[in-house]
Parts: sequence; structure tokens; C-alpha cells
Amino acid sequence: MYYIGVDLGGTTIKAGLLNSDYEIIKKVVIPTGAERSSEEVLRDMAMLCREIMQEHNLTEEDVHSIGIGSPGIASPIEGIIHYASNLNFNEVNVRNEIQKYINLPVYVENDANCAALAEAICGAAKGEKDVVVMTLGTGVGGGIIINGKVYSGAFCGGGEIGHHVIEMNGRPCGCGRKGCLEQYASATALINDAKAAAKANAGSSLNELVEDGNLDNMTAKIVFDAAQSGDEVATAVLDQYFRYVAHGVANIVYMLQPSTVVLGGGMSAQKENLTGPVTQYAAEEMCPGLELRNPVKAAILGNDAGIIGAALVGTTL
Ligand SMILES: [Zn+2]
Repeated sequence: MYYIGVDLGGTTIKAGLLNSDYEIIKKVVIPTGAERSSEEVLRDMAMLCREIMQEHNLTEEDVHSIGIGSPGIASPIEGIIHYASNLNFNEVNVRNEIQKYINLPVYVENDANCAALAEAICGAAKGEKDVVVMTLGTGVGGGIIINGKVYSGAFCGGGEIGHHVIEMNGRPCGCGRKGCLEQYASATALINDAKAAAKANAGSSLNELVEDGNLDNMTAKIVFDAAQSGDEVATAVLDQYFRYVAHGVANIVYMLQPSTVVLGGGMSAQKENLTGPVTQYAAEEMCPGLELRNPVKAAILGNDAGIIGAALVGTTL
């Protein structure tokens, strides 16, 4: 059996064909043309899926389903995208549109939830049924997997891990609240904290490691590199960052007790440099009976997680 997964974004549509081992054996990327109508975008998407099938001599009998990961809010079983940021998709019945061109079951799911599902099925938490993936990138996102399925609440909009408050009246967030985890645990937050610390400490090597000596060129990697070479300012910034992420992890474990929490997004490139301290600090926050049973892990599927998870959504419903 084969599976087709599509990662629908504001810039590109990425489609992939998975074999029965859930490996991507073909991947195609086309521009989304997000200014167009949803009908036009979905027609292109359907044609892309057909091309992939033809290229591998597959009929509709060989393919389990088409899964589509989309930004925003989607109802997987109904096949409807209710809203998608950066796209002209409002209450669009994606299934009906795709099935005009191709006779396969069609499912839709939020893209972050797809990525989380992929890590639970065949990634960092392979085979585990209860997993939470926290994505640390520009913002903080994620997905909740319960009993092998995405859990997104009663109205498909839940699982917004980045917007739980860890500091009452803290830093303002784009969502309108103050003190959201996202404002402390995202890569953006780490970079901003490092810039502020470097400015206040002229002797820190952070000031020299940034390109052209310009603090606007700060990256998360520079902070890790500086800390590893013994810079005390970078070490302190990073230690505080690990504690913020650990707060988020501990909150998740208190609420849901997944077998594993996986950290994804750009920060996951730091692997054990990130997961080691976060595991230690999160473990310190847990109480008897609710210990952290497994170490926090780094996501392993990278950018392919979205395609893989989308392709497999239909197997979990
Ligand atoms: Zn927020």
C-alpha cells in the first residue's frame, strides 16, 4: 500500500509518496500561488497527486488515501479546512474539490499536528501512543497525540502549546495574552534574550561571534557555540532558556503525561545539547508519582515530518 501526503503552505505545496514502510519515495514541490482561489490551488494539488501516481504506475487501488496538512484549522474526518493563515481558504471542502479529479479518500489536518503524528508513528517517539511534540522555532507550536491519534479538542483548534502562560503579566504575545511560553521558549525569544545580554555585557564573545559585529545577526547556534566555548553570558542566557522550555515540558507532563515529549523545530538541531538540560530541569519540576519517565527527545524527521504525518492521518481515524 502507498500513501500520499501533501504539505500545503503559503509559499509551496510539497507532495510526497510513501511506501508501505512509511518512507518517502518521491517528493515534488510546486509554488502555491496563494493569491489564487482555493479551487485553483486544490486543482493543482490534485494534478500533482495524479502525476506522482502515474509516474509510479499506481492506480487508485494501490493508494490508501491522500492526506493534506494545512496551516490553521481543519476537520480531518469531514475533510474541511475552516481557516488557513496566508491562504484564501475559508470553510473549504477540500475533499470534494480533490475528489473532482481523483477518486481517493481525502483527509485534512493542521500541519503542526501532522508533524507531531509523524514523530509518533515513525520518528523520535516511534511506536509510542501518547506523545506531545513541542516545536521551537520562530514561535512555539506543536501537536498532541493521544492513543495514536491527533487530539485537537472539540472544535479542532486545540493543542496550541505555545500559548499557555508561564509568566502572569509577562511578555506580550501575538495572540493577545501576556507571558505565553512562546515568548520565552521560541528560537526568536532565545535570540532576543541573547542580544539583550550581549548589549549589556560588552566583554561577552557573543558580540564578536555575530556577523559584522552586528547583534541583529544573532542566531541560536551562536548562543550554543559561545556557551560551549565557555562564555558566561551565553551560558546564563542558555540556562535560563532551558528552564523556560522545561517549564513548558513539565506543564505538559502534569496535564497529559505523555510517554515522551519531543522537541521539534529549528532548535532540535542542537539535539542532546538541548534535550539533556531540558530533561534535567523538567525532571526537577515533577512530583512523586508524576516523575518524568522518559528523557525529552529531539525530533528526527525534520521538514519531511509534515508530508509523512499528512500521508498517515487517514490510517489513524
Ligand atoms: Zn500567546
